[in-house]
Amino acid sequence: MQNFDNLINGEWRAAASYSPNVNPSNLGDVLGQYAQGDAAQVDAAVAAATAAFPAWSTGGIQARSEALEKIGNEILARKEELGTLLAREEGKTKAEGIGEATRAAQIFKFFAGECLRLSGEVLPSVRPGIGIEITREPVGVVGLITPWNFPIAIPAWKIAPALAFGNCVVMKPADLVPGCAWALAEIISRSGIPAGVFNLVMGRGSVIGDALVNHPGIHAISFTGSVGVGRNIAVQCATNHKKVQLEMGGKNPQVVLDDADLNQAVELSVQSAFYSTGQRCTASSRLIVTEGIYPKFIEAMKARMAKIKVGDALAQGTDIGPVSSKSQLEQDLEYVAIGKGEGATLAAGGERLKLETDGYYMSPALFSESAASMRINKEEIFGPVASVIRVKNYEEALATANDTEFGLSAGIATTSLKHATHFKRHSQAGMVMVNLPTAGVDYHVPFGGRKGSSYGPREQGRYAQEFFTVVKTAYTLA
Ligand code: NAD
Repeated sequence: MQNFDNLINGEWRAAASYSPNVNPSNLGDVLGQYAQGDAAQVDAAVAAATAAFPAWSTGGIQARSEALEKIGNEILARKEELGTLLAREEGKTKAEGIGEATRAAQIFKFFAGECLRLSGEVLPSVRPGIGIEITREPVGVVGLITPWNFPIAIPAWKIAPALAFGNCVVMKPADLVPGCAWALAEIISRSGIPAGVFNLVMGRGSVIGDALVNHPGIHAISFTGSVGVGRNIAVQCATNHKKVQLEMGGKNPQVVLDDADLNQAVELSVQSAFYSTGQRCTASSRLIVTEGIYPKFIEAMKARMAKIKVGDALAQGTDIGPVSSKSQLEQDLEYVAIGKGEGATLAAGGERLKLETDGYYMSPALFSESAASMRINKEEIFGPVASVIRVKNYEEALATANDTEFGLSAGIATTSLKHATHFKRHSQAGMVMVNLPTAGVDYHVPFGGRKGSSYGPREQGRYAQEFFTVVKTAYTLA
């Protein structure tokens, strides 16, 4: 079985230990043994990045742009292979995996252009005879820490802007899914980017992640993951004077009004609650439905859910793959039990499934008659578990949608322009969808949330420069 090493200063370096990367659709299938790095490897990676920074940050933007374009082109050319790897290690369906690989490629190609467009401002001084230039410069050496649910797209949307704007990188992927990050690092290592500019250190969050966050040579941390880990990182970064950007959990509402197109509302609710096994930070887990359409909506959801095929992520015809890990499956099933215990009605699914291959399968779960105050409507479950909350009217729907500590994505299904417009203005989420699933976003526009979901500047699109650059104001006496 192949050992996959860490990439430090342009070399593949062995680690003291390795851990197996297991296919959640088929526990007997091991993709390989992946390095479990240590603090010494983090030191070496930060030293390499620090040494590479002066030349990379001041070197030509043409070379940067060409390298990013090359990385994007190779991912695109290999999207089938990389999408299959993603499905095999994370459990998304192959089609979803290929879609995510394509998106990673598009992100690199977008930032290949963005690094040529980094602009500043020229302003007159309030003091005569003086000119002012406002420019953006790279931050320095950045630590990137990513979760397991988007193993290629999230690394891509942090690495591409970091490199585009002249930073050097130490990347730490989720230990559950190092395969896609390793494949991406291998592509980057052949892109013409100098040794040390990009480094990959795989291993445990409590070891590698913690070492990065507390390393004096790291100037900024971009983290995506759970709220608990994110909050601690924010405190540590504040103490150590590091720039920090956090993307964390969600409890996204999908409002369905009486005047909605029923079929459309059901389709987008099923898509955003259950596809990708509900393991998207933008998944809608609270379906807030007005009372006129509520009975029809529940029946139509049950009928649509009966047609969902749960299966091996790589098999033809699978709609929803397995849950990604044993602990996540246990958490999902525990929340099904919690929901029942709280008095919600389990209208469909919520069972552990035994299929041909031994994997972490469960049927998507839908609760009806749930109350907004229940734990299943307050806490992020991060699995194929959604609950329906009945409300009287639009006003109650909006108040319920906003009644959460999170604020990532929010959706409304309605044919009313008045309600759609009001919802766009008054939803307390960073992203709002009208007659679209809460999950599924473009790669060239800002991504991020409010309240407990996000902290710091937005990711992606033109807005990514806010985090990956620092502003300088220069005064010149003419
Ligand atoms: P997690 O917080 O357990 O892990 C995220 C990353 O942090 C991993 O690489 C992990 O190894 C690392 N880590 C763990 N402990 C650490 C520590 N002490 N110091 C530094 N790093 C540490 O999250 P997860 O289970 O991998 O991902 C699921 C979570 O991610 C969910 O809450 C989900 O909503 C969130 N998520 C958010 C977004 C978003 O953009 N808002 C996108 C995807 C996932």
